[in-house]
Amino acid sequence: MQLTDKQLLKTQNYINGEWRDAAGRIDVRDPASGELLAEIADGTAADAQEAVVAAAAAFPTWKSKTASERAAVLKRWHQLILDNIDDLALILTLEQGKPLAEARGEILYGASYIEWYAEECRRAYGQTIPTHNPAMRLQTIRQPVGVVACITPWNFPNAMITRKAAPALAAGCTVVIKPASETPLSAMALCELATRAGLPAGTINMVVGSDAPALGQVLTQHPQVAKFTFTGSTAVGKILMAQCASGVKKMSMELGGNAPFIVFDDADLDTAVSACVATKFRNAGQTCVSTNRIYVHESVHDAFVEKLHAAVAEMKVGHGCDEGVTVGPLIHRRAAERVAQLVSETAGAGAKVEFGGDFLPEGENYFAPTVITGVSDEMRIAREEIFGPLAPVQKFTDEDDVIRRANDTPYGLAAYVMSENIRRANRVVEALEYGMVACNAGVFSTTVAPFGGSKESGIGREGGVEGMAEFYETKYCCFGA
Ligand code: NAP
Repeated sequence: MQLTDKQLLKTQNYINGEWRDAAGRIDVRDPASGELLAEIADGTAADAQEAVVAAAAAFPTWKSKTASERAAVLKRWHQLILDNIDDLALILTLEQGKPLAEARGEILYGASYIEWYAEECRRAYGQTIPTHNPAMRLQTIRQPVGVVACITPWNFPNAMITRKAAPALAAGCTVVIKPASETPLSAMALCELATRAGLPAGTINMVVGSDAPALGQVLTQHPQVAKFTFTGSTAVGKILMAQCASGVKKMSMELGGNAPFIVFDDADLDTAVSACVATKFRNAGQTCVSTNRIYVHESVHDAFVEKLHAAVAEMKVGHGCDEGVTVGPLIHRRAAERVAQLVSETAGAGAKVEFGGDFLPEGENYFAPTVITGVSDEMRIAREEIFGPLAPVQKFTDEDDVIRRANDTPYGLAAYVMSENIRRANRVVEALEYGMVACNAGVFSTTVAPFGGSKESGIGREGGVEGMAEFYETKYCCFGA
Protein backbone atom coordinates (compact mmCIF):
# COMPACT_ATOMS: atom_id res chain seq x y z
CA MET A 1 0.00 0.00 0.00
CA GLN A 2 1.51 3.31 -1.10
CA LEU A 3 0.70 5.31 2.02
CA THR A 4 2.39 8.63 2.77
CA ASP A 5 2.17 7.76 6.46
CA LYS A 6 2.85 4.04 6.80
CA GLN A 7 2.00 4.17 10.51
CA LEU A 8 -1.67 4.40 9.53
CA LEU A 9 -1.65 0.79 8.43
CA LYS A 10 -2.26 -1.05 11.70
CA THR A 11 -2.99 -4.75 12.04
CA GLN A 12 -3.76 -5.22 15.73
CA ASN A 13 -6.56 -4.61 18.17
CA TYR A 14 -6.52 -1.37 20.10
CA ILE A 15 -7.21 -1.79 23.79
CA ASN A 16 -6.50 0.68 26.59
CA GLY A 17 -4.25 2.79 24.42
CA GLU A 18 -2.13 -0.15 23.21
CA TRP A 19 -1.97 -2.13 19.98
CA ARG A 20 -2.42 -5.76 21.00
CA ASP A 21 -1.65 -8.88 19.03
CA ALA A 22 -3.67 -12.10 19.07
CA ALA A 23 -2.90 -15.75 18.46
CA GLY A 24 -4.98 -16.03 15.29
CA ARG A 25 -4.92 -14.05 12.07
CA ILE A 26 -7.57 -12.78 9.64
CA ASP A 27 -6.72 -12.07 6.02
CA VAL A 28 -7.92 -8.73 4.69
CA ARG A 29 -8.20 -8.75 0.90
CA ASP A 30 -8.86 -6.23 -1.84
CA PRO A 31 -12.33 -7.17 -3.16
CA ALA A 32 -11.34 -5.85 -6.59
CA SER A 33 -8.28 -8.05 -7.10
CA GLY A 34 -8.37 -10.63 -4.31
CA GLU A 35 -4.89 -9.44 -3.33
CA LEU A 36 -3.89 -9.87 0.32
CA LEU A 37 -3.67 -6.45 1.94
CA ALA A 38 -2.89 -7.40 5.53
CA GLU A 39 -3.05 -10.16 8.09
CA ILE A 40 -4.66 -8.74 11.19
CA ALA A 41 -4.93 -9.97 14.77
CA ASP A 42 -8.02 -12.14 15.27
CA GLY A 43 -9.49 -10.69 18.46
CA THR A 44 -11.39 -12.93 20.86
CA ALA A 45 -14.16 -12.56 23.42
CA ALA A 46 -11.43 -12.14 26.07
CA ASP A 47 -10.06 -9.14 24.12
CA ALA A 48 -13.55 -7.66 23.93
CA GLN A 49 -13.91 -8.06 27.69
CA GLU A 50 -10.60 -6.32 28.28
CA ALA A 51 -11.68 -3.51 25.99
CA VAL A 52 -14.93 -3.03 27.93
CA VAL A 53 -13.08 -3.01 31.25
CA ALA A 54 -10.60 -0.44 29.86
CA ALA A 55 -13.46 1.74 28.61
CA ALA A 56 -15.18 1.51 32.00
CA ALA A 57 -11.97 2.51 33.78
CA ALA A 58 -11.48 5.50 31.48
CA PHE A 59 -15.08 6.72 31.79
CA PRO A 60 -14.93 8.65 35.11
CA THR A 61 -12.03 10.82 33.95
CA TRP A 62 -13.34 11.43 30.44
CA LYS A 63 -16.86 12.34 31.59
CA SER A 64 -15.41 14.76 34.15
CA LYS A 65 -13.72 16.85 31.49
CA THR A 66 -15.50 19.99 30.44
CA ALA A 67 -17.29 20.01 27.13
CA SER A 68 -14.63 22.38 25.82
CA GLU A 69 -11.83 20.01 26.80
CA ARG A 70 -13.52 17.08 25.06
CA ALA A 71 -14.30 19.28 22.05
CA ALA A 72 -10.64 20.30 21.73
CA VAL A 73 -9.52 16.66 21.47
CA LEU A 74 -12.29 15.80 19.00
CA LYS A 75 -11.43 18.79 16.82
CA ARG A 76 -7.80 17.66 16.69
CA TRP A 77 -9.04 14.21 15.63
CA HIS A 78 -11.19 15.82 12.93
CA GLN A 79 -8.25 17.84 11.63
CA LEU A 80 -5.92 14.84 11.60
CA ILE A 81 -8.46 12.91 9.52
CA LEU A 82 -8.59 15.76 7.01
CA ASP A 83 -4.79 15.99 6.98
CA ASN A 84 -4.55 12.28 6.17
CA ILE A 85 -7.49 12.00 3.80
CA ASP A 86 -5.45 10.61 0.89
CA ASP A 87 -4.10 7.73 2.95
CA LEU A 88 -7.44 7.03 4.60
CA ALA A 89 -9.23 7.03 1.24
CA LEU A 90 -6.68 4.64 -0.22
CA ILE A 91 -7.04 2.22 2.71
CA LEU A 92 -10.82 2.42 2.40
CA THR A 93 -10.90 1.81 -1.34
CA LEU A 94 -8.46 -1.07 -1.14
CA GLU A 95 -10.32 -2.93 1.60
CA GLN A 96 -13.88 -2.06 0.56
CA GLY A 97 -13.81 -1.55 -3.22
CA LYS A 98 -15.63 1.78 -3.68
CA PRO A 99 -14.04 4.31 -6.08
CA LEU A 100 -11.47 6.66 -4.54
CA ALA A 101 -13.69 9.71 -5.06
CA GLU A 102 -16.46 8.00 -3.08
CA ALA A 103 -13.98 6.95 -0.41
CA ARG A 104 -12.84 10.56 -0.01
CA GLY A 105 -16.49 11.59 0.20
CA GLU A 106 -17.10 9.05 2.95
CA ILE A 107 -14.10 10.28 4.92
CA LEU A 108 -15.24 13.91 4.71
CA TYR A 109 -18.75 12.83 5.67
CA GLY A 110 -17.43 10.72 8.56
CA ALA A 111 -15.17 13.51 9.79
CA SER A 112 -18.02 16.00 9.69
CA TYR A 113 -19.72 14.10 12.54
CA ILE A 114 -16.64 14.57 14.71
CA GLU A 115 -16.54 18.31 14.09
CA TRP A 116 -20.28 18.80 14.53
CA TYR A 117 -20.54 16.84 17.79
CA ALA A 118 -17.44 18.56 19.16
CA GLU A 119 -19.48 21.75 18.86
CA GLU A 120 -22.81 20.26 19.91
CA CYS A 121 -21.53 18.87 23.23
CA ARG A 122 -21.29 22.41 24.59
CA ARG A 123 -25.08 22.59 24.42
CA ALA A 124 -26.01 19.68 26.69
CA TYR A 125 -28.49 21.85 28.53
CA GLY A 126 -30.82 20.62 31.23
CA GLN A 127 -34.02 22.34 32.33
CA THR A 128 -35.45 24.06 35.35
CA ILE A 129 -39.06 22.89 35.56
CA PRO A 130 -41.84 25.10 36.97
CA THR A 131 -42.54 23.36 40.26
CA HIS A 132 -45.76 21.70 41.39
CA ASN A 133 -44.88 22.60 45.01
CA PRO A 134 -43.48 26.01 46.02
CA ALA A 135 -41.25 24.33 48.59
CA MET A 136 -39.55 22.16 45.98
CA ARG A 137 -37.19 22.82 43.07
CA LEU A 138 -37.18 20.59 40.00
CA GLN A 139 -34.56 20.28 37.30
CA THR A 140 -33.12 17.92 34.76
CA ILE A 141 -29.46 17.37 33.93
CA ARG A 142 -27.99 15.38 31.06
CA GLN A 143 -25.24 12.91 31.82
CA PRO A 144 -23.29 10.53 29.56
CA VAL A 145 -24.67 6.99 29.68
CA GLY A 146 -21.29 5.27 30.22
CA VAL A 147 -19.50 2.66 28.13
CA VAL A 148 -20.88 2.46 24.58
CA ALA A 149 -20.30 -0.68 22.50
CA CYS A 150 -20.60 -0.35 18.71
CA ILE A 151 -20.75 -2.95 15.95
CA THR A 152 -20.40 -1.60 12.41
CA PRO A 153 -20.70 -2.99 8.85
CA TRP A 154 -18.29 -3.12 5.90
CA ASN A 155 -20.16 -0.84 3.47
CA PHE A 156 -19.09 2.41 5.17
CA PRO A 157 -16.01 1.35 7.16
CA ASN A 158 -15.19 4.90 8.25
CA ALA A 159 -18.42 6.86 8.60
CA MET A 160 -20.45 4.20 10.40
CA ILE A 161 -17.83 4.37 13.14
CA THR A 162 -17.59 8.15 13.46
CA ARG A 163 -21.39 8.54 13.34
CA LYS A 164 -21.52 6.56 16.59
CA ALA A 165 -18.18 7.29 18.26
CA ALA A 166 -18.23 11.08 17.74
CA PRO A 167 -21.49 11.81 19.59
CA ALA A 168 -20.69 9.19 22.22
CA LEU A 169 -17.25 10.64 22.97
CA ALA A 170 -18.54 14.20 22.79
CA ALA A 171 -21.23 13.36 25.35
CA GLY A 172 -18.54 12.02 27.72
CA CYS A 173 -18.98 8.30 27.05
CA THR A 174 -16.13 5.92 26.28
CA VAL A 175 -16.38 3.44 23.40
CA VAL A 176 -15.53 -0.05 22.23
CA ILE A 177 -15.84 -0.56 18.48
CA LYS A 178 -16.11 -3.84 16.63
CA PRO A 179 -15.77 -3.15 12.90
CA ALA A 180 -16.64 -5.67 10.20
CA SER A 181 -13.93 -8.27 9.69
CA GLU A 182 -13.83 -7.49 5.92
CA THR A 183 -12.91 -3.83 6.54
CA PRO A 184 -10.97 -3.40 9.79
CA LEU A 185 -8.10 -1.29 8.41
CA SER A 186 -10.12 1.93 8.22
CA ALA A 187 -11.20 1.44 11.85
CA MET A 188 -7.61 0.87 12.94
CA ALA A 189 -6.41 4.00 11.11
CA LEU A 190 -9.14 6.01 12.84
CA CYS A 191 -7.94 4.71 16.23
CA GLU A 192 -4.35 5.63 15.42
CA LEU A 193 -5.41 9.20 14.59
CA ALA A 194 -7.60 9.37 17.71
CA THR A 195 -4.55 8.53 19.82
CA ARG A 196 -2.48 11.19 18.08
CA ALA A 197 -5.29 13.65 18.74
CA GLY A 198 -4.95 12.98 22.47
CA LEU A 199 -7.91 10.74 23.28
CA PRO A 200 -6.79 9.19 26.57
CA ALA A 201 -6.04 5.47 26.88
CA GLY A 202 -9.23 3.43 27.22
CA THR A 203 -11.48 6.18 25.86
CA ILE A 204 -11.62 4.55 22.44
CA ASN A 205 -10.98 0.82 21.96
CA MET A 206 -11.30 -1.44 18.94
CA VAL A 207 -11.57 -5.21 18.71
CA VAL A 208 -12.12 -7.17 15.53
CA GLY A 209 -12.38 -10.93 15.25
CA SER A 210 -13.55 -13.76 13.06
CA ASP A 211 -16.01 -14.96 15.70
CA ALA A 212 -18.45 -12.04 15.53
CA PRO A 213 -21.14 -13.78 17.61
CA ALA A 214 -18.66 -14.30 20.49
CA LEU A 215 -17.57 -10.65 20.42
CA GLY A 216 -21.22 -9.62 20.09
CA GLN A 217 -22.13 -11.58 23.23
CA VAL A 218 -19.63 -9.57 25.24
CA LEU A 219 -20.61 -6.23 23.74
CA THR A 220 -24.34 -6.75 24.29
CA GLN A 221 -24.19 -8.47 27.67
CA HIS A 222 -21.19 -7.27 29.63
CA PRO A 223 -22.53 -5.57 32.78
CA GLN A 224 -20.23 -2.59 32.27
CA VAL A 225 -21.66 -1.79 28.82
CA ALA A 226 -24.36 0.86 29.26
CA LYS A 227 -25.42 1.28 25.66
CA PHE A 228 -25.14 -0.87 22.55
CA THR A 229 -25.34 0.60 19.06
CA PHE A 230 -25.40 -1.45 15.86
CA THR A 231 -25.39 -0.81 12.13
CA GLY A 232 -25.90 -3.84 9.94
CA SER A 233 -28.51 -6.25 8.67
CA THR A 234 -31.96 -6.57 10.21
CA ALA A 235 -31.40 -10.30 10.77
CA VAL A 236 -28.29 -9.75 12.91
CA GLY A 237 -29.89 -6.69 14.55
CA LYS A 238 -32.73 -8.85 15.85
CA ILE A 239 -30.28 -11.31 17.41
CA LEU A 240 -28.37 -8.49 19.09
CA MET A 241 -31.57 -6.83 20.35
CA ALA A 242 -32.56 -10.09 22.00
CA GLN A 243 -29.12 -10.30 23.62
CA CYS A 244 -29.42 -6.72 24.90
CA ALA A 245 -32.76 -7.52 26.51
CA SER A 246 -31.32 -9.62 29.33
CA GLY A 247 -29.42 -6.63 30.71
CA VAL A 248 -32.02 -4.04 29.62
CA LYS A 249 -29.27 -2.23 27.72
CA LYS A 250 -30.08 1.03 26.02
CA MET A 251 -29.72 0.35 22.30
CA SER A 252 -29.83 1.90 18.84
CA MET A 253 -30.27 -0.13 15.67
CA GLU A 254 -29.51 1.11 12.14
CA LEU A 255 -30.68 -1.80 10.00
CA GLY A 256 -31.57 -2.77 6.47
CA GLY A 257 -33.93 -1.09 4.02
CA ASN A 258 -36.09 -1.61 0.94
CA ALA A 259 -36.28 1.91 -0.46
CA PRO A 260 -39.01 2.83 -2.96
CA PHE A 261 -38.18 5.45 -5.59
CA ILE A 262 -41.37 6.95 -7.03
CA VAL A 263 -41.34 8.92 -10.28
CA PHE A 264 -44.60 10.80 -10.90
CA ASP A 265 -45.73 11.99 -14.31
CA ASP A 266 -45.01 15.59 -13.23
CA ALA A 267 -41.36 14.82 -12.33
CA ASP A 268 -38.39 16.39 -14.06
CA LEU A 269 -37.04 13.22 -15.64
CA ASP A 270 -33.42 14.38 -15.78
CA THR A 271 -33.50 15.17 -12.06
CA ALA A 272 -35.20 11.82 -11.43
CA VAL A 273 -32.61 9.86 -13.40
CA SER A 274 -29.63 11.55 -11.80
CA ALA A 275 -31.15 11.04 -8.32
CA CYS A 276 -31.88 7.41 -9.17
CA VAL A 277 -28.33 6.79 -10.37
CA ALA A 278 -26.90 8.43 -7.23
CA THR A 279 -28.97 6.38 -4.81
CA LYS A 280 -28.88 3.14 -6.79
CA PHE A 281 -25.29 2.81 -7.96
CA ARG A 282 -23.26 4.57 -5.25
CA ASN A 283 -21.04 1.98 -3.57
CA ALA A 284 -22.23 -0.49 -6.26
CA GLY A 285 -25.68 -0.45 -4.67
CA GLN A 286 -24.37 -1.56 -1.30
CA THR A 287 -25.91 1.11 0.92
CA CYS A 288 -28.81 0.78 3.33
CA VAL A 289 -30.60 3.68 1.60
CA SER A 290 -30.03 2.35 -1.94
CA THR A 291 -33.11 2.45 -4.11
CA ASN A 292 -34.59 -1.03 -4.16
CA ARG A 293 -37.88 -0.59 -6.02
CA ILE A 294 -38.34 1.97 -8.78
CA TYR A 295 -42.00 2.86 -9.42
CA VAL A 296 -42.53 4.96 -12.55
CA HIS A 297 -45.85 6.42 -13.70
CA GLU A 298 -46.94 4.53 -16.82
CA SER A 299 -47.08 7.73 -18.91
CA VAL A 300 -43.36 8.49 -18.36
CA HIS A 301 -42.12 4.92 -17.90
CA ASP A 302 -40.52 4.44 -21.32
CA ALA A 303 -38.88 7.88 -21.36
CA PHE A 304 -37.48 7.33 -17.85
CA VAL A 305 -36.13 3.87 -18.69
CA GLU A 306 -34.48 5.21 -21.84
CA LYS A 307 -32.68 7.95 -19.90
CA LEU A 308 -31.74 5.56 -17.08
CA HIS A 309 -30.40 3.07 -19.59
CA ALA A 310 -28.26 5.80 -21.19
CA ALA A 311 -26.91 6.94 -17.81
CA VAL A 312 -26.04 3.39 -16.75
CA ALA A 313 -24.32 2.70 -20.06
CA GLU A 314 -21.97 5.62 -19.28
CA MET A 315 -20.75 4.10 -16.02
CA LYS A 316 -17.19 2.92 -15.81
CA VAL A 317 -16.72 -0.23 -13.79
CA GLY A 318 -13.29 -1.15 -12.47
CA HIS A 319 -10.80 -1.02 -9.63
CA GLY A 320 -11.67 1.88 -7.33
CA CYS A 321 -8.14 3.29 -7.63
CA ASP A 322 -8.30 3.56 -11.43
CA GLU A 323 -8.99 6.91 -13.03
CA GLY A 324 -12.61 7.61 -13.94
CA VAL A 325 -14.08 4.48 -12.33
CA THR A 326 -17.58 5.09 -10.99
CA VAL A 327 -18.59 1.58 -9.90
CA GLY A 328 -16.33 -0.87 -8.10
CA PRO A 329 -16.67 -4.57 -7.27
CA LEU A 330 -19.06 -6.10 -4.77
CA ILE A 331 -17.61 -6.90 -1.38
CA HIS A 332 -17.12 -10.64 -2.03
CA ARG A 333 -18.03 -13.46 -4.39
CA ARG A 334 -21.07 -14.48 -2.30
CA ALA A 335 -22.55 -11.01 -2.78
CA ALA A 336 -21.96 -11.11 -6.55
CA GLU A 337 -23.49 -14.59 -6.81
CA ARG A 338 -26.54 -13.51 -4.83
CA VAL A 339 -27.08 -10.60 -7.21
CA ALA A 340 -26.68 -12.90 -10.24
CA GLN A 341 -29.24 -15.28 -8.74
CA LEU A 342 -31.70 -12.40 -8.22
CA VAL A 343 -31.31 -11.38 -11.88
CA SER A 344 -31.89 -14.87 -13.23
CA GLU A 345 -34.88 -15.43 -10.92
CA THR A 346 -36.41 -12.08 -11.91
CA ALA A 347 -35.85 -12.66 -15.63
CA GLY A 348 -37.20 -16.19 -15.26
CA ALA A 349 -40.41 -14.76 -13.76
CA GLY A 350 -41.00 -12.63 -16.86
CA ALA A 351 -39.07 -9.41 -16.28
CA LYS A 352 -36.79 -8.00 -18.99
CA VAL A 353 -33.09 -7.25 -18.52
CA GLU A 354 -32.66 -3.97 -20.42
CA PHE A 355 -28.98 -3.52 -19.67
CA GLY A 356 -26.22 -5.47 -17.90
CA GLY A 357 -27.37 -8.54 -16.03
CA ASP A 358 -24.14 -10.50 -15.80
CA PHE A 359 -20.75 -10.89 -14.15
CA LEU A 360 -17.94 -8.82 -15.66
CA PRO A 361 -14.48 -9.97 -16.75
CA GLU A 362 -12.71 -7.46 -14.44
CA GLY A 363 -12.71 -9.98 -11.58
CA GLU A 364 -14.85 -12.50 -9.73
CA ASN A 365 -16.63 -9.89 -7.56
CA TYR A 366 -17.70 -7.62 -10.43
CA PHE A 367 -21.30 -7.45 -11.56
CA ALA A 368 -22.58 -5.15 -14.30
CA PRO A 369 -24.79 -2.17 -13.42
CA THR A 370 -28.16 -3.54 -14.50
CA VAL A 371 -31.56 -2.17 -15.46
CA ILE A 372 -34.57 -4.51 -15.37
CA THR A 373 -38.15 -3.67 -16.40
CA GLY A 374 -41.42 -5.52 -15.97
CA VAL A 375 -40.72 -6.25 -12.30
CA SER A 376 -43.64 -6.88 -9.94
CA ASP A 377 -44.09 -6.49 -6.18
CA GLU A 378 -44.32 -10.25 -5.58
CA MET A 379 -40.82 -10.93 -6.92
CA ARG A 380 -38.00 -11.50 -4.42
CA ILE A 381 -36.05 -8.60 -5.96
CA ALA A 382 -38.83 -6.27 -4.75
CA ARG A 383 -39.24 -7.82 -1.33
CA GLU A 384 -35.62 -8.26 -0.23
CA GLU A 385 -32.80 -5.76 0.14
CA ILE A 386 -30.82 -6.18 -3.12
CA PHE A 387 -27.48 -4.75 -1.96
CA GLY A 388 -26.06 -4.69 -5.48
CA PRO A 389 -26.13 -2.66 -8.72
CA LEU A 390 -29.58 -3.75 -9.94
CA ALA A 391 -32.24 -1.19 -10.85
CA PRO A 392 -35.64 -2.95 -11.05
CA VAL A 393 -38.39 -0.80 -12.59
CA GLN A 394 -42.16 -1.21 -12.15
CA LYS A 395 -45.10 0.79 -13.55
CA PHE A 396 -47.91 2.46 -11.61
CA THR A 397 -50.99 4.49 -12.51
CA ASP A 398 -52.48 5.83 -9.31
CA GLU A 399 -51.00 7.90 -6.45
CA ASP A 400 -52.82 6.14 -3.61
CA ASP A 401 -51.96 2.77 -5.05
CA VAL A 402 -48.25 3.52 -5.38
CA ILE A 403 -48.15 4.81 -1.79
CA ARG A 404 -49.77 1.58 -0.62
CA ARG A 405 -47.28 -0.49 -2.62
CA ALA A 406 -44.32 1.56 -1.41
CA ASN A 407 -45.39 1.08 2.23
CA ASP A 408 -46.05 -2.64 1.82
CA THR A 409 -42.79 -3.83 3.36
CA PRO A 410 -41.53 -4.55 6.86
CA TYR A 411 -38.73 -2.03 6.22
CA GLY A 412 -38.96 1.73 6.78
CA LEU A 413 -35.56 3.34 6.24
CA ALA A 414 -35.47 5.64 3.19
CA ALA A 415 -37.85 6.55 0.37
CA TYR A 416 -37.60 8.86 -2.64
CA VAL A 417 -40.27 10.94 -4.37
CA MET A 418 -39.80 12.67 -7.72
CA SER A 419 -42.46 15.30 -8.46
CA GLU A 420 -42.54 18.98 -9.40
CA ASN A 421 -46.01 19.38 -7.88
CA ILE A 422 -45.54 20.84 -4.40
CA ARG A 423 -48.91 19.67 -3.08
CA ARG A 424 -48.39 16.13 -4.30
CA ALA A 425 -44.82 16.11 -3.00
CA ASN A 426 -45.98 17.14 0.48
CA ARG A 427 -48.83 14.64 0.47
CA VAL A 428 -46.67 11.71 -0.59
CA VAL A 429 -43.71 12.57 1.63
CA GLU A 430 -46.05 12.58 4.63
CA ALA A 431 -47.82 9.36 3.62
CA LEU A 432 -44.66 7.28 3.23
CA GLU A 433 -43.91 5.19 6.33
CA TYR A 434 -40.16 5.75 6.35
CA GLY A 435 -37.68 7.39 8.72
CA MET A 436 -36.25 9.49 5.87
CA VAL A 437 -37.86 10.71 2.64
CA ALA A 438 -35.97 12.60 -0.07
CA CYS A 439 -37.92 14.63 -2.62
CA ASN A 440 -36.17 15.38 -5.92
CA ALA A 441 -32.82 14.33 -4.40
CA GLY A 442 -30.83 11.11 -4.40
CA VAL A 443 -28.24 11.91 -1.74
CA PHE A 444 -29.65 13.38 1.44
CA SER A 445 -27.63 12.17 4.41
CA THR A 446 -25.87 14.92 6.35
CA THR A 447 -24.37 15.42 9.78
CA VAL A 448 -26.95 17.98 10.79
CA ALA A 449 -30.07 15.85 10.18
CA PRO A 450 -31.31 12.69 11.93
CA PHE A 451 -30.60 9.43 10.07
CA GLY A 452 -32.55 6.30 10.93
CA GLY A 453 -35.46 4.06 10.19
CA SER A 454 -38.89 2.97 11.34
CA LYS A 455 -40.42 -0.52 11.39
CA GLU A 456 -37.76 -3.25 10.98
CA SER A 457 -35.19 -0.74 9.75
CA GLY A 458 -34.25 0.30 13.21
CA ILE A 459 -34.59 2.13 16.47
CA GLY A 460 -33.05 5.51 17.26
CA ARG A 461 -31.34 8.13 15.14
CA GLU A 462 -27.76 9.07 14.24
CA GLY A 463 -26.78 12.62 13.30
CA GLY A 464 -28.24 15.94 14.32
CA VAL A 465 -29.31 16.76 17.85
CA GLU A 466 -31.23 13.47 17.95
CA GLY A 467 -27.99 11.53 17.46
CA MET A 468 -26.44 13.14 20.52
CA ALA A 469 -29.48 12.48 22.73
CA GLU A 470 -28.89 8.74 22.28
CA PHE A 471 -25.79 8.95 24.48
CA TYR A 472 -27.24 10.93 27.39
CA GLU A 473 -29.29 9.88 30.36
CA THR A 474 -31.72 12.62 31.37
CA LYS A 475 -31.70 12.77 35.15
CA TYR A 476 -34.61 14.39 36.95
CA CYS A 477 -33.45 16.08 40.17
CA CYS A 478 -36.00 17.05 42.80
CA PHE A 479 -34.88 19.29 45.70
CA GLY A 480 -37.21 19.23 48.72
CA ALA A 481 -38.00 21.96 51.18
P1 NAP B 1 -24.16 -7.81 8.98
O1 NAP B 1 -23.90 -9.13 8.41
O2 NAP B 1 -25.34 -7.64 9.87
O3 NAP B 1 -22.81 -7.40 9.75
C1 NAP B 1 -22.68 -6.16 10.39
C2 NAP B 1 -21.73 -6.31 11.55
O4 NAP B 1 -22.27 -7.25 12.47
C3 NAP B 1 -20.35 -6.80 11.19
O5 NAP B 1 -19.42 -6.15 12.02
C4 NAP B 1 -20.42 -8.29 11.52
O6 NAP B 1 -19.17 -8.84 11.86
C5 NAP B 1 -21.31 -8.25 12.74
N1 NAP B 1 -22.02 -9.49 13.03
C6 NAP B 1 -22.51 -10.40 12.16
N2 NAP B 1 -23.14 -11.38 12.85
C7 NAP B 1 -23.04 -11.08 14.17
C8 NAP B 1 -23.49 -11.70 15.38
N3 NAP B 1 -24.20 -12.82 15.39
N4 NAP B 1 -23.19 -11.10 16.55
C9 NAP B 1 -22.49 -9.96 16.57
N5 NAP B 1 -22.04 -9.31 15.47
C10 NAP B 1 -22.32 -9.88 14.28
O7 NAP B 1 -24.34 -6.68 7.88
P2 NAP B 1 -23.38 -6.35 6.68
O8 NAP B 1 -23.61 -7.34 5.62
O9 NAP B 1 -21.99 -6.12 7.15
O10 NAP B 1 -23.93 -4.91 6.25
C11 NAP B 1 -24.98 -4.75 5.40
C12 NAP B 1 -26.26 -4.44 6.16
O11 NAP B 1 -26.10 -3.26 6.94
C13 NAP B 1 -27.39 -4.13 5.20
O12 NAP B 1 -28.56 -4.76 5.62
C14 NAP B 1 -27.52 -2.61 5.31
O13 NAP B 1 -28.78 -2.14 4.96
C15 NAP B 1 -27.19 -2.38 6.73
N6 NAP B 1 -26.79 -0.99 6.95
C16 NAP B 1 -27.65 -0.16 7.60
C17 NAP B 1 -27.32 1.17 7.78
C18 NAP B 1 -28.26 2.11 8.49
O14 NAP B 1 -27.82 3.19 8.86
N7 NAP B 1 -29.51 1.77 8.68
C19 NAP B 1 -26.09 1.66 7.31
C20 NAP B 1 -25.23 0.79 6.67
C21 NAP B 1 -25.59 -0.55 6.50
P3 NAP B 1 -18.28 -9.65 10.78
O15 NAP B 1 -17.99 -8.69 9.71
O16 NAP B 1 -17.07 -10.01 11.54
O17 NAP B 1 -19.11 -10.80 10.34
